[in-house]
Amino acid sequence: MATITTRNPHTGAELATYECAEGERIEEVRSQAAAAAGAWGEVAVGDRTHLLRALGDLLTERREEYAALITAEMGKPIAEALGEIDKCALSCHVVADLAPAWLADEPVATSAQQSWVSYVPLGVVVAVMPWNFPFWQVIRFACAALVAGNSGILKHSPNVTGCAVALEELLDAAASRAGAPAQLLQTLVIDESLVPQIIPALIADDRVAAATLTGSERAGVAVGSAAGAALKKVVLELGGSDPFVVLDDADLDAAADAAIRSRFGNAGQSCIAAKRWIVQQSVADDFVSRIQDRMARLVAGDPADPATNIGPMARGDLRRVVHEQVQDSVTEGATLVAGGVIPVGPGYHYPATLLDNVSTSMTVAREETFGPVACVIRVADDDEAVRVANDTAYGLGASVWSRSERGLAVGTRIRSGALFVNAVVASDARMPFGGLGRSGHGRELGAAGVREFTNVRTVWIG
Ligand code: NAP
Repeated sequence: MATITTRNPHTGAELATYECAEGERIEEVRSQAAAAAGAWGEVAVGDRTHLLRALGDLLTERREEYAALITAEMGKPIAEALGEIDKCALSCHVVADLAPAWLADEPVATSAQQSWVSYVPLGVVVAVMPWNFPFWQVIRFACAALVAGNSGILKHSPNVTGCAVALEELLDAAASRAGAPAQLLQTLVIDESLVPQIIPALIADDRVAAATLTGSERAGVAVGSAAGAALKKVVLELGGSDPFVVLDDADLDAAADAAIRSRFGNAGQSCIAAKRWIVQQSVADDFVSRIQDRMARLVAGDPADPATNIGPMARGDLRRVVHEQVQDSVTEGATLVAGGVIPVGPGYHYPATLLDNVSTSMTVAREETFGPVACVIRVADDDEAVRVANDTAYGLGASVWSRSERGLAVGTRIRSGALFVNAVVASDARMPFGGLGRSGHGRELGAAGVREFTNVRTVWIG
């Protein structure tokens, strides 16, 4: 039987080995998911929220255990891992509070005696998830899909298989506490080489209604194509190369603090990290020098140490890609201000790296950089800032910094799924989250995210 072995990215040491599911087990998961969805879809929305509250409470009770697991498996600094679990717990309660209104019947005035829109569960949703926020990505999907009356089958990244197994057990514990059916979220541990066959077959199965993927463009194309071939609903949350625009009237200290937090948090492995710093020329030297001061204070090292700001990257192949992007950009003419050298020693550490004088044709500006690498693109004015910000195939988030109304004016002209003015792009359970273009389509979170996996049904009484 095939197995998956997880490794600590800080030390390279083996953590645990898991058996992969094969034919019979996969069939069992499919039929159990369909049975769970059938029972759960009959439960009133208000009663479904008890499951989310139990989930939120259990996350809080087990926060240290789960945060330590995240840190061990993918190297997130422990303080951030605790923050991830706390955000999951809070979001469970927020969705429980708000979903009954989001899913309530909506009367519509027509020529009918009565007419309304109702939000009906779809059934089983297949969720393919990435390792970078191993709990948050799954919990944000699960809250929406489950409160809307569906069940889920989770295929997580192999390097966070311990988190995937823990999430299934967590959901079952919450269901038992809340009196909900078991097996509403089941984890399938799949041999990586079989993923391109098993996932499309799962999506095509008559008992599966829809799919969602958070991950790279490459995986998005695979899952989107499989869903298209089977004519199933799909939500795709893919990569990003978010612009972070600093205008000449910005609060430079606030902008520098935010840029550091957004780009170097989670060792830069976030879809909505500020990946392209687009800075007005007249304040660029000042901004870069404030960034250098702050970078010098970042503590890199053991992610289990609460003082650490930058842990290792999650895998060796990811570090190799990021390092090549840095080297290519320097060859293309970028100025290496800090970092850029792979440290000697075990694990997959990469230093906080800053590239200045980057142009839109360089590798770090064209490609998504999924690591602790910041780049500064200097621009003359607002028009050039907008042009550069939009010079990308991605369209996830955008952040603009200005003390005047210019911030919103410039931001409005940038094409993105989210616009944050004088704030870092972030997800919030009350607001929709998603992108355009190569960043995917569909929404998670907020009313829009909860309704994605429903049949938006027209009811007309003549
Ligand atoms: P990835 O390699 O695409 O993996 C994500 C998931 O997709 C994994 O579970 C992976 O499983 C699976 N997968 C890969 N190929 C597949 C295929 N052919 N069919 C079905 N599933 C497949 O991405 P990653 O490196 O883990 O994550 C980084 C990427 O995710 C970045 O581009 C980042 O921006 C994006 N991301 C986006 C968001 C968002 O909300 N928009 C959030 C977080 C991350 P295997 O590893 O087993 O193949």
